[in-house]
Amino acid sequence: MKIGFIGLGIMGKPMAKNLIKAGHELVVTDIVKEAVAEVEACGAAAAANAREVAQQCGLIITMLPNSPHVKQVVCGENGVLEGAKPGAILVDMSSIAPLASQEIARACAEKGVLMLDAPVSGGEPKAIDGTLSIMVGGDEKVFRQVYDILMVMGASAVYCGEIGAGNTTKLANQVVVAVNIAAVAEAFMLSKKAGVDPELVYKAIRGGLAGSTVMDAKGPMMLAGNTKPGFKIDLHIKDLTNALETGHGVGSPLPLTAAVMEMLQTLRADGCGQNDHSALAKYYEKLTGAKLSE
Ligand code: NAD
Repeated sequence: MKIGFIGLGIMGKPMAKNLIKAGHELVVTDIVKEAVAEVEACGAAAAANAREVAQQCGLIITMLPNSPHVKQVVCGENGVLEGAKPGAILVDMSSIAPLASQEIARACAEKGVLMLDAPVSGGEPKAIDGTLSIMVGGDEKVFRQVYDILMVMGASAVYCGEIGAGNTTKLANQVVVAVNIAAVAEAFMLSKKAGVDPELVYKAIRGGLAGSTVMDAKGPMMLAGNTKPGFKIDLHIKDLTNALETGHGVGSPLPLTAAVMEMLQTLRADGCGQNDHSALAKYYEKLTGAKLSE
């Protein structure tokens, strides 16, 4: 079965390349032609748009920025649903609002297309290694059908429940990551201002209870003043917007998330939206006038 892949950005490109390496025949598209050419050079066929991808493929994967992009690519003009045959499977691996997943799945069902929401965690390094954590919502039978293909891109693929459950799980993940990054930046700045080298603090505490995957991935970036994304502040604002809306909708207040959201908004207003989210350290640098990397 040919696999369609739509959205060849930081994450989608290495995920598509891993599917090709595993021997799958891919048809790809993106609005950025250089990205399409790069994946084409690895053995994929290029299509002009999502409709043409869907016409050729029984399984279509999307890896796009947010809910409006997925709605446009799936339900819009020249979209997946104009080309897909009944029985085709759409696996949306973008991180979008759970309610949007449910809405898109309903439009798919009207055309006989089966949909899973299957967002990922792990960032670009794990997308390249094929070791992403994948969290999946939708029909469990469909999940089992595509499991082996998901496991080409991931180290784990966990079924979380009905459609939208994958993205609810991803929002929980993004809350933990955002608050953890802010805590690491706050703690490093405290030690800096108190006269203890944050590099030594990192070495001393990373193996204890305070240590985390976030600290190991983002701490060294903060200490080096490296803001190259990674995962952009703009995308994390998108995820926290979805988390706050979802939380408010279900009656679950998110006070810590709201605080970190305002820090990220401050950084975006200051022109840092395309920085890695570890640039939360800059927020503390602005507050104190001290630099973690000096
Ligand atoms: P990105 O901006 O690098 O890539 C998105 C791609 O979608 C781009 O190549 C863009 O040209 C393409 N695109 C946008 N609109 C399109 C359209 N109408 N038709 C075709 N292509 C279109 O983003 P990314 O970092 O790859 O993230 C993709 C998704 O994965 C997001 O939802 C993000 O939140 C999530 N995610 C990202 C990371 C990370 O570390 N970057 C980690 C986990 C999850």
